[in-house]
Amino acid sequence: MQKNRSEWNVNTKLNHPVEIKIPEGNKPLIQPIFLSAKYYPSESQPYFEQFMYSRVSNPTTRQLELTLAEIQKREDCMVVGSGVAALTGTFLGLLKTGDHIISFKESYRPSRVFIRDSLSHFGITSTFLSLTEMNQLESAIVSGKTKLIHFESPSNPNLEIADIEKIISVARKYNVLVSMDGTFAGLHQHTQFDVDIMIHSLTKFGNGHGDVIAGCIAGKSIVLKQIREMCLQLGAALDPHAAYLITRGLKTYMLRYARQTETAQKIVTFLESHPKIKWVRYPNSELARRQMRDMGSTISFEVDPSIAKSADNFCHKLKLIQLAASLGSTESVIAPTLAFFGLDLTPEERESMLLTPYSVRLSVGLEDAEDLIRDLEAALA
Ligand SMILES: *Cc1c(COP(=O)(O)O)cnc(C)c1O
Repeated sequence: MQKNRSEWNVNTKLNHPVEIKIPEGNKPLIQPIFLSAKYYPSESQPYFEQFMYSRVSNPTTRQLELTLAEIQKREDCMVVGSGVAALTGTFLGLLKTGDHIISFKESYRPSRVFIRDSLSHFGITSTFLSLTEMNQLESAIVSGKTKLIHFESPSNPNLEIADIEKIISVARKYNVLVSMDGTFAGLHQHTQFDVDIMIHSLTKFGNGHGDVIAGCIAGKSIVLKQIREMCLQLGAALDPHAAYLITRGLKTYMLRYARQTETAQKIVTFLESHPKIKWVRYPNSELARRQMRDMGSTISFEVDPSIAKSADNFCHKLKLIQLAASLGSTESVIAPTLAFFGLDLTPEERESMLLTPYSVRLSVGLEDAEDLIRDLEAALA
């Protein structure tokens, strides 16, 4: 393509702005955001091995994908427009009519609802177990039909821990794939496990600043290829602006995670000794310690009915910690667990999962621990 600017009139010039070429060896320290939706391909290579169209591939989103594959110790990674798109793209990419999936009722509500209610529209059946009854996993396999076991650890919202080795050993025995939603634990954990597909909502710890919605799927190239194909067909692409913000947010990921975990532990200690707190859940079992290095910044607990009319009412009494969805961000947020995460469940299921009218989920941010504890103390008084 040869440009002849001197022959062009004004509109042509304005719509083909001057190109700035950076001298060879003269590099920006921060890679620019590639916003172009389309690319001029070189004649010397197959078109679709190059960047052609940003719904399919883009240098800025690819930079994020490769960074994420590296830190998760996976062959490849795909980023998409939300954590939910990562989940649904994985399920639709790996399953077809007649297949069966095993999942666990202790899951993020949209994930549970999609598997239980929407996959059935495509003739894909499901069985839900509890993470606390892992001994039933093997008998839940439907020979020749079960293709995927999907789980979370720690689970949203009540931080149940999955026995990952047990899930993988059953899956390998029956030639079933395993997908894990590791959002609560973050990107740097569980990398030692041979789960086929690792899913994260980057909206949470990855971006970490509460201003981007995104998700990622990492795994072996051969499995990821099938999921990528489905995500491309669904048009699930992440915008390069969003990808850039996440790449930037990731620079402080480990610092944020460490500080948030440290503060969360101080809050757990405070809550555990408070007379108006009925129970506190935070990953500290032997199984959690075996699988995780850092226990994270999400805590769930139940307040005594004498201090508030409801979980919502307790959340509204707080002045610093705000009632809101999401987690893993710089500001602390709290949510009533039943109203936010449990309304699709039967009363028995809610009770067995500790989703009660007085339980809440707290995500600890980067504020000072003393200020957060003072806020909780005042609301509990
Ligand atoms: C938030 C969340 C998701 C969904 O992510 P979005 O980015 O909000 O779509 C999936 N799984 C878990 C465990 C989550 O907490």
